[in-house]
Amino acid sequence: MPNSSQGNVVTSQKRSPEMRFKARSVSRGIAIGKAVCLMGDSRQYYLRHISADDLERELRRLRAAFRLSVRQLKKLSAPTSSLASNSASSIFAAHLLILSDASLLASIEQKITSELINAEWAVRKTFDEHIARYRAMSDEHFRDKYLDLDDIAERVMTALGGGSRQIGLEPESIVVARELRPSTVVELRNSDPLALITEHGGWTSHSFILARELSIPAVTGIRRILRKLNTGDMVIVDGFNGQVIVNPEQKTLDEFSSAKTGTTVLKQERPAEIGNGFATTLDGKQIELLANVDVPRGARSSLLNGANGIGLFRSEFLFNRFGGFPSEMQQFAAYRRLADQAGSGGVRIRTFDIDVGQKVDRSEDRELNPALGLRAIRLGLAYPHDLRTQFRAILRASHERKVDIVLPLVTGISDIEESRAILEKERTDMLEDGVDVGDPSIGIMIEVPSVVLQIDDVLQTVDFACLGTNDLTQYILAADRDNETVANWYRTLHPAVLKCIKMVADAGHKHNKSVVACGEMAGSPFYVPVLIGMGIESLSMNTNSLGNVYRIISGIAYDEAVELVKQLSALRTAEAVEQAVKKTVYTKWSHLLPSDMVEK
Ligand code: PEP
Ligand code: MG
Repeated sequence: MPNSSQGNVVTSQKRSPEMRFKARSVSRGIAIGKAVCLMGDSRQYYLRHISADDLERELRRLRAAFRLSVRQLKKLSAPTSSLASNSASSIFAAHLLILSDASLLASIEQKITSELINAEWAVRKTFDEHIARYRAMSDEHFRDKYLDLDDIAERVMTALGGGSRQIGLEPESIVVARELRPSTVVELRNSDPLALITEHGGWTSHSFILARELSIPAVTGIRRILRKLNTGDMVIVDGFNGQVIVNPEQKTLDEFSSAKTGTTVLKQERPAEIGNGFATTLDGKQIELLANVDVPRGARSSLLNGANGIGLFRSEFLFNRFGGFPSEMQQFAAYRRLADQAGSGGVRIRTFDIDVGQKVDRSEDRELNPALGLRAIRLGLAYPHDLRTQFRAILRASHERKVDIVLPLVTGISDIEESRAILEKERTDMLEDGVDVGDPSIGIMIEVPSVVLQIDDVLQTVDFACLGTNDLTQYILAADRDNETVANWYRTLHPAVLKCIKMVADAGHKHNKSVVACGEMAGSPFYVPVLIGMGIESLSMNTNSLGNVYRIISGIAYDEAVELVKQLSALRTAEAVEQAVKKTVYTKWSHLLPSDMVEK
């Protein structure tokens, strides 16, 4: 990674002493490489040096982004604009004035030209210099103007379209960011980052679900990360023990690195082959094992590891890969390929689980609380054109293949009925037009408490259910799954969460509807006995977890799991439940755990 002594934000040159930071492991493995700091909120970007040949193109990108931002601001500041109130339009008018100042564009162009750096970096540097001046002012009125500048910088950055999509990381990069968006992980995956380090996020954050699927070691929870690490720093990420070592001394490097190259990644142990897609407990209970797929290339390994099909395909991957909604035919091609790879067990395609900010990508549409906002099936029903397109693609793919539909973030029966009506209308139209279509089953994600409270009625309106414990935990406990600072309140083994899971499992048996657990719980050797003891008979997980889960199921008795759950039902706090589960797992089943999970 090139160094930049001019960089005002990130780059360090001096040899600094070794520093160690405690972190939380969210994807196992060890990596040694060079830090690349990612900046930005809705668009993430990093310092990239360009060649003289690329200079003109970079300047054109910048000017186009300025023109687009100016057009947006003109619209927003127009007195007739329905988008803006009077005070809002005057704020946007002030933004327009700042952005139209020719010297601003000229100074960014000058940075790109003289330092040969990417437009994103030059924009950020220039705005940061202005912001620093404003923040140093004694007059409060002027001081607060830096917020406007930040807002304008973000608009230009969005207009630049996210630099990371078109460029790659240098080899052996370790990505460092305050938080990592799943789309960024998808964009960067072709550059094979060695590891990820963030300030925010948790085990169930989509970015880390992806990291585990891609076998990229990752740690999180280091406060003020971008003040501690600089682009170019040598870093060791220990995703087994949850630590980051910056500027390691030689003896530390020797301890961690392979003598040959000086840089290495020790990835997770490959799971054992699991055979026919089922695991059987010692007393004969059969549990179905399925794969969660976020990145289609994962489908092939799910077959290798013997999963009985794809229990959950998070179709957002396609949205991220295409930088927006893929066409009907693009989706059809992707779904058909997945179904062919999944074999007779088939694939359950979840409709796009994205929020409105991802769809429209305009700062004025950004929600304060996207987890409770216009997202997932709500977004599909609010913009039925996109949902219809996705249904049509799934209908095509389901012709002579086992392809089913999962609706995300359903909150009640109306969501299901409206979606079903759209699906049926598309199916009838396609049949009339002579298109070959199948007849997919419809299932829902159970991840909102309202659906658990109505579970008997809900299950009678669907063909199957997927228990999304990641979101269910977040919504029951009102604890953001992506926010490290409330990780202490996000407790998968909270008695209230377990009660909900039990209600759903019982209702599944009563109504003879399949309930597949597909949150991260289903891939954990610690939680699997609890799920099985509560009556869950189908588990869908990251393909890298299949071997570990197969091993634990094959080594326990169903009766023991039921007994464990009985004990847990008398406990009243998450801490007590966690203790009890740990005690049972370690005393009875530690021989079934992967080596890095065994208590030392
Ligand atoms: C869940 O919420 O548990 C789930 C499987 O979906 P996601 O992690 O994609 O939100
Ligand atoms: Mg979910």
